[in-house]
Amino acid sequence: AQLDTLDIVVLVALLLASVAYFTEGTYWAVRKDPYASSYANGSASKAEKSRDILETMDKSGKNCVVFYGSQTGTAEDYASRLAKEGSSRFGLKTMVADLEEYDYDNLDKFPDDKVAMFVLATYGEGEPTDNAVDFYEFITGQDVSFSEGGGAEEKPLSTFKYVPFGLGNNTYEHYNSMVRNVNKALEKLGGSRIGAAGEGDDGAGTMEEDFLSWKEPMWSALTQSMELEEREAVYEPAFEVTEKPDMDAEDDMVYLGEPNKNHLEGASKGPYNAHNPYIAPIVESSEIFKVENRNCLHMEIDIGGSNLTYTTGDHVAVWPTNAGKEVDRFLNVLGLASKRHMVIAVKGLDPTAKVPFPSPTTYDAAVRYHMEICAPVSRQFVSMIAQFAPNESIKAEMTKIGSEKDYFVEKVSSQHLNIAQLLEILGKGEKWTAVPFSLWIEGIHKIQPRYYSISSSSFVQKDRVSVTAIVESVEIPGAPHVVKGVTTNYLLALKQKQHGDPHPDPHGLDYAITGPRNKYDGIHVPVHIRHSNFKLPSDPSTPIIMVGPGTGVAPFRAFVQERAAQAKAGENVGKTMLFFGCRKKMEDFIYENEWKEYKEALGDKFELVVAFSRDGPQKVYVQHKLKEHAEEVNNLLQQKGFFYVCGDAANMAREVNTVLAQIIATQRGIPESKGEEIVKAMRASNQYQEDIW
Ligand code: FAD
Repeated sequence: AQLDTLDIVVLVALLLASVAYFTEGTYWAVRKDPYASSYANGSASKAEKSRDILETMDKSGKNCVVFYGSQTGTAEDYASRLAKEGSSRFGLKTMVADLEEYDYDNLDKFPDDKVAMFVLATYGEGEPTDNAVDFYEFITGQDVSFSEGGGAEEKPLSTFKYVPFGLGNNTYEHYNSMVRNVNKALEKLGGSRIGAAGEGDDGAGTMEEDFLSWKEPMWSALTQSMELEEREAVYEPAFEVTEKPDMDAEDDMVYLGEPNKNHLEGASKGPYNAHNPYIAPIVESSEIFKVENRNCLHMEIDIGGSNLTYTTGDHVAVWPTNAGKEVDRFLNVLGLASKRHMVIAVKGLDPTAKVPFPSPTTYDAAVRYHMEICAPVSRQFVSMIAQFAPNESIKAEMTKIGSEKDYFVEKVSSQHLNIAQLLEILGKGEKWTAVPFSLWIEGIHKIQPRYYSISSSSFVQKDRVSVTAIVESVEIPGAPHVVKGVTTNYLLALKQKQHGDPHPDPHGLDYAITGPRNKYDGIHVPVHIRHSNFKLPSDPSTPIIMVGPGTGVAPFRAFVQERAAQAKAGENVGKTMLFFGCRKKMEDFIYENEWKEYKEALGDKFELVVAFSRDGPQKVYVQHKLKEHAEEVNNLLQQKGFFYVCGDAANMAREVNTVLAQIIATQRGIPESKGEEIVKAMRASNQYQEDIW
């Protein structure tokens, strides 16, 4: 999976209602403004924060708001970039806004000398992201009503100018449905769209280029519509970064990587959620296979006593720490290595600029714990940095890379470089000291927790979640660096430490394993739980068919573990059929021995079908095996069996969908189109569930 797929990544059939249900509303209450009470030096404090967007814009002198509907930060990042560009190139007074932080019933009062932009990721099966649900329901609702009875009017948004851009993935059926539906709804309400509705496609890997080619004509249209004048882009920092040489990094009010105030002030307190991780002990860890550069981890994380709960099929989110090697590289190339422990205070330069991490902190802590420094580089960001290059020839090269698509591919993306690696290569020993630190904060994503499908059953071990993860290591022939996954290599280091490895840092990555102020010592990792509705049927006698190659088997280990325990407890368990695929029997056949144990408990009720893609002359995949078992698969579905797919979203899940439609068609003697319709209906009724990434 690519990093930038995160926004459109699928937690399929994630019903927000179920999140609210499982968390009894606490999640919603807390997530409204995660940092307001926890960041020492955040921007706008809660007290002065209004949910009235017009009032906020007026008070802060803004004429352009860029709203984002973002799940994991990508849409938020694009929104910031649009805001930045609007301000530096066109003199717009821009602000970025989280959709869930405002109300929309006064958009009919939005004056025509202002503009609202929407950067909207589509999530799961065409759903809005969590933070966009309320807005989406409001704007697409049957009877949208505005504050002063605007809903009664035919075109209540006649003065509303808007600009839409969507982030989607064409591998999914509901491609970019969020931006499409919002655009339709705004049009219907009389809003005037400026330029075309943009659609970025992560499935084709063209998100960045789609964005870049969409925005130029949009800016021209906006320039005309708002009578703007383009000027030479001048960088205007969004944050003020003040060094505090008189402060000591060890001072107890300085954040050294603690995620919020609660953590800074000692033993952290719950409720633990997406804004407040639980520092959980890892009670067991092992490598369940290891071949050359591929290895797979199994970890048992204890959530007992935290008040965190999970049910089989949920996800655990792991909060990563950047590798020391990359933190060093980044600070070195910026010329900050010698003052990495300098205390800095970061503050938004206007009340709408949100500081993405708590302050005061240090350069080291901000980079290590809060900035996604290893991610792929965006071409636009290269252009922005070019003006601060150490000398004219480097600046010329940076400008060329930033402006020429093919050259960018050749020099950067085909090499899988991260930003510091690129600057190191281009700088040839020169440091990039002229780049304001504010630009790094603005241009680099906030580090994102990574999700893992919990591979244990809550029925069997309610206080322990298991993770099954492949350690990411991608070697591009001819490229100067091997891409090492941020989180999985951190987990590998934790595992090595736990096993007393004398060199607990894989590949010299050198993680700060004991965390800020040694708070993670004793092998702990910050986590939270994300509830999903990828769930077993409530009746254990319902048959299930699971398709999970590679680590896609993670939640199915949990499913089978649960059913084996139920069978042992004397329950009537239905047919439990698992299609697993891997490369070679002797190499990466994970949990091979456990399947045998479950088979003992479940007997004929459990059937494991395995596809090995590299063991014979022909590549055999799970979908081939499904076809071989067509009759049985169809029979189980006709007995109202549930069908589950987990793992690779790009190819496998789609092919399994197609193959299943074919199986249904041939087995039932109906046309293939009818088979497809049946699969669609199964999805709609939750008889077909996906957990893909
Ligand atoms: P990252 O650092 O995020 O890198 C990921 C990939 O991005 C790299 O391999 C590389 O291809 C690309 N990349 C990174 N940096 C660059 C660069 N500079 N240039 C170009 N490309 C780059 N994974 C599991 O193993 N098991 C699971 O059970 C599991 N369940 C999941 C469930 C859900 C709902 C989701 C969304 C994901 C799940 N994943 C699972 C995937 C997991 O969340 C992580 O994405 C994965 O472990 C990689 O994380 P990482 O931080 O190690 O790698």
